Amino acid sequence: MSNIIDHESLALELNRLKEKTWERVGDKDARHIRRMIRIQRTAEISARIIMMLCFFHWSFLILGMLILAWAKILENMEIGHNVLHGQYDWMNDPNINSRHYEWDIVSDAKSWKRIHNHEHHTYTNIIGKDRDFGYGLLRMSNDLKWRRKNLWQFITYFNLSLMFEWGVAYHELAAERVFIGKKKKNRVSTLSDQELKRMFFQKVGKQLFKDYLFFPLLAGPLFLGVLLANLGANLLRNLWTSTIIFCGHFTEDVQTFTEKECENETQGQWYHRQMLGSSNLTGPKWFHIMTGHLSCQIEHHLFPDMPSLRYTEIASEVQAIAQKHGIPYNTGSFFTQYGAVLKRIWVHSFPDKKHTPAIKTQ
Ligand SMILES: [Zn+2]
Repeated sequence: MSNIIDHESLALELNRLKEKTWERVGDKDARHIRRMIRIQRTAEISARIIMMLCFFHWSFLILGMLILAWAKILENMEIGHNVLHGQYDWMNDPNINSRHYEWDIVSDAKSWKRIHNHEHHTYTNIIGKDRDFGYGLLRMSNDLKWRRKNLWQFITYFNLSLMFEWGVAYHELAAERVFIGKKKKNRVSTLSDQELKRMFFQKVGKQLFKDYLFFPLLAGPLFLGVLLANLGANLLRNLWTSTIIFCGHFTEDVQTFTEKECENETQGQWYHRQMLGSSNLTGPKWFHIMTGHLSCQIEHHLFPDMPSLRYTEIASEVQAIAQKHGIPYNTGSFFTQYGAVLKRIWVHSFPDKKHTPAIKTQ
């Protein structure tokens, strides 16, 4: 990170913006999240009913699948991710409180909070500390040693996208080497392997029962059709969520950091790293909602617990602050950013032309 940046005034300006924005948080945000929940519940119930109508024509299955995928995306992104960040804890509503909320995905909410809220948001893009960087499967930077498996990482990436919820669910268990591998000496987990396993299987069982047994059974002889439609909805949701998340962290210019660089980091330096480690997507309001406002990944990384509706509102001010301090503000359309992600995965599939020092983290 450059030393020329005045990190002290960067922190002051961003803290001022944060305070000013939090003063406005209130009814508008509460109405927004409640409206999202109403829309999402209506969409999900409608999708389940429409699927049952496949008794008249099979095309109802396709329609039901698409609506269910949409409802699941809304639940995971605009509702789940943001509620679990504690963005609505101030409302004191037990149904949308980060401590109690459980989402419609195989990943257990508490496990996700430990890995995402704490690890990924604190150590964003620090190689070796942020396990979200490439998820231990993909080489997304030449700071990582090239391995043979990287040759086919383009295929690995698409498989990961399709199975994304399973990757997220297994993330903590993989890191703790619960099933395979040797535990790393420096890992300090607050939970035992037994507890991690119990929570994992409990959540996975609940999700599998709901989508692949309970609702298909309700359809009687159309069991298989409904099961496949539910599977399709889950895969579509996985593809979308992973694509949005990759666009937020793995576009061309997004930077990585070493542990040493981030030692004794000040608040201004932390803000600076968050800005360099994230990228935004431009688009209409409905698009921002479908991304859970992760289209404003930069603003989300600066202020993770701020109600999501405020991100688009402050984006231009954050960009102005970045420009003033000479910090790159990475933003672009969905197709430009996604193209950059695919290029990054492709480029790092191959060994570097000139030798760069490798860090053994994969
Ligand atoms: Zn987040």
